[in-house]
Amino acid sequence: MKIIMLGAPGAGKGTQAKKLAARYGIPHISTGDIFRMNIKNNTELGKKAKGYMDAGGLVPDELVVDLVVDRIKDQDCMKGFILDGFPRTIPQAEALDYALNNQNEKIDYAINIDISDEAIIERMSGRRACVGCGATYHIVNLPSKVEGVCDNCGEKLILRDDDKPETVKKRLEVYHEQTQSLIDYYNKKGLILNIDGTTGADVIFEEITKVLDE
Ligand code: AMP
Repeated sequence: MKIIMLGAPGAGKGTQAKKLAARYGIPHISTGDIFRMNIKNNTELGKKAKGYMDAGGLVPDELVVDLVVDRIKDQDCMKGFILDGFPRTIPQAEALDYALNNQNEKIDYAINIDISDEAIIERMSGRRACVGCGATYHIVNLPSKVEGVCDNCGEKLILRDDDKPETVKKRLEVYHEQTQSLIDYYNKKGLILNIDGTTGADVIFEEITKVLDE
């Protein structure tokens, strides 16, 4: 099963992608996580991506397309994959289609988690991320056991630069300008599954799996 997660930054794509990956036994591929890991390891890719990310903008297509196209050719993607944060532009979606076509494959579902900008701004300002393993929490909805400390690895939890309110506003602008049109792109292909993102994570998961299990 080949799945794309769509929705604004902070809509809950990552949470659902992780749960779906576990349920269907397919890898969760988050381009944001890949970039953050590269920044942490101070790689060339990380150095190139950091400025764009901190400013709330998109990393240029040429830095992300090959990375994803190569990743989905890996052995663990034979049964499918869940793309979270990719594609984010029409050229990225076209490049993905082209790569899949060449392998006689196609996307099965583009899941769109729908939620207002106001709800996202409120949600993201409460998000906390671990500096060690990258796990994410929320001060109200998903608190760590000890405030400011990661349950998994004991490292410090921080408000990521790209989750700060001014950056979130910029990221939402970028989303509306460059990414929202993907809903239409996949709708025309009959692949869109629209999900109300204002309910809880468990309800959203149930709604998605009800359709995917059919
Ligand atoms: P995310 O964790 O998916 O919200 O991604 C965090 C940041 O990484 C984004 O705000 C972008 O700067 C960058 N990024 C992640 N995926 C992509 C992509 N497919 N295209 C361009 N930039 C991306």
